[in-house]
Amino acid sequence: MKVLVPVKRVIDYNVKVRVRTDGSGVDLANVKMSMNPFDEIAVEEALRLRESGIASEIIAVSVGVRKAQLVLRTALAMGADRAIHIVTGDDPHVDVEPLAVAKILHRIVQQEQPGLVLMGKQAIDNDLNATGQMLAGLMACGQATFASELRVDDGQATATREVDGGLQVVQLTLPCVVTVDLRMNEPRYPSLPNIRKARRKPFAVHGPEDLGVDISPRLNILHTVEPPARKAGEILSTVDDLVAKLRDEAEVI
Ligand code: AMP
Repeated sequence: MKVLVPVKRVIDYNVKVRVRTDGSGVDLANVKMSMNPFDEIAVEEALRLRESGIASEIIAVSVGVRKAQLVLRTALAMGADRAIHIVTGDDPHVDVEPLAVAKILHRIVQQEQPGLVLMGKQAIDNDLNATGQMLAGLMACGQATFASELRVDDGQATATREVDGGLQVVQLTLPCVVTVDLRMNEPRYPSLPNIRKARRKPFAVHGPEDLGVDISPRLNILHTVEPPARKAGEILSTVDDLVAKLRDEAEVI
């Protein structure tokens, strides 16, 4: 069974995000970029499926600027077998919207026929949490979102989903889409020999037009603002002082 793992290049989670002075979005000039953390978890889960003999091939795919090839190289160094890069230009401030990404992924699914698409539950740059759901809609297949555990056997996937106030276990017929949550696993670091090996793995490059997908935006971002600055904290010397503050100033008790 092939597993397709979409991986997105996003602003690194350790970077303090700065909004551009004209409010048109986040400033990405000279900022460290990395693989979306949820996508690393999806790659790791795909590797574990291959190690347990369930997956035969892992294909990492990214839609984005030329430099997005680095996140695909990371996926290959972690252990993915090959990569597909759909290049969308050079401007890092142009974010391809979920519907366009889902349409591209759908075309790749039609070509590659994976048994499973394992992807992040959301990209930490735009927090949209939409691509997996849209892809499952286009594929007309089952989807398990926010999965923290996954078992695959006998043409079925069983996923434990993190839902409000508890866990839900769902069973899906393959092929299906599973979007992963934070607690599914701890992704491995690529070893030095694997980083070297990754350079020789198959790496296909296409444009969205090769797949017949129009990636023109449908959303217009009107304005982006930074959250209001937090007030400085205060160190109190006794519990009584804290209780007084909570009662008289914050009025929460
Ligand atoms: P989103 O719907 O934008 O929050 O993204 C959810 C998931 O879809 C991500 O964790 C990725 O697995 C996948 N995804 C979104 N955008 C891209 C992209 N440009 N290239 C590859 N995968 C993507």
